[in-house]
Amino acid sequence: MTTGYITHALCAQHEMGAWHPESPARLAAIHDQLIASGLLPYLAECEAPEATRAQIERAHDAQYVASLRARIPQQGYVALDPDTLMNPHTWLAALRAAGAVVEATDRVLRKTWRNAFCAVRPPGHHAGVRRAMGFCFLNNVAIGVRHALHEHGLQRVAVFDFDVHHGNGTEDILAGDERVLMTGFFQHPFYPYSGTGQTAKNMVNVPLPAGTDGDVLRQVMHKVCLPRLTDFAPEMIFISAGFDAHREDDLGQMAWVEADYAWITAQLMSVADAHAQGRIVSTLEGGYNLSALGRSVTAHVRTLAGL
Ligand SMILES: [Zn+2]
Repeated sequence: MTTGYITHALCAQHEMGAWHPESPARLAAIHDQLIASGLLPYLAECEAPEATRAQIERAHDAQYVASLRARIPQQGYVALDPDTLMNPHTWLAALRAAGAVVEATDRVLRKTWRNAFCAVRPPGHHAGVRRAMGFCFLNNVAIGVRHALHEHGLQRVAVFDFDVHHGNGTEDILAGDERVLMTGFFQHPFYPYSGTGQTAKNMVNVPLPAGTDGDVLRQVMHKVCLPRLTDFAPEMIFISAGFDAHREDDLGQMAWVEADYAWITAQLMSVADAHAQGRIVSTLEGGYNLSALGRSVTAHVRTLAGL
């Protein structure tokens, strides 16, 4: 059983200006490190299809999706917020990013792959039911979760989000959906300043102060996240894999290193092995220091591949 690696060239065509940290160079940095590490030949590569309207509308309001599509510029940029801009390729890139998670879900549930990593952008975890924000347009992970529930008939699916920012869009879509348990940690107080108030029972958020290192991360995993995941006994785990909690990443102020990403991945694999036949689909969220991003994704994917 192999680990899938799914991406699409169009994901590098979406860009928001030379100043913007969420850049096409991120995917190149990941690809380069997977080659340099010798890992790429061991992965099953696949090109992402486009997500369908029906798949997208399981997570997003139809009017929002239509308005997003209508605002795609012929040239230049359209800004949805100061940090979230569309260029002429954004819509097609977003369709491929969401389609990657759907395709990976199909392949893992059909046992073609043991698990998978989707190297895609734009990222998704800040995109809510009817709102783009924080570099995100379509919520790739939530679209994948709903696909697993609706198309494959799963009853319990977990989402683990380890991006340095709270996955407020994923929470917006999945809060109250008792078929889903969402857990993970994020820096707080910090953008998008959510995740600590009254949340739904299926949201197990762990806000952490700036400067948190791998030791605290291990304690939180053992005390909070792993027991909740084990109690829930998910049939599949999705990972919102952001790498901006790395100590070299300037968009967050956490102190994680590659070994921490490998450790979290191994813990989630243990839960998946115990309850979910090993089924994990991980998708890229943040991570903006190109060198740290490439190294951290390599540590994550190497662990997923058992190498
Ligand atoms: Zn982030």
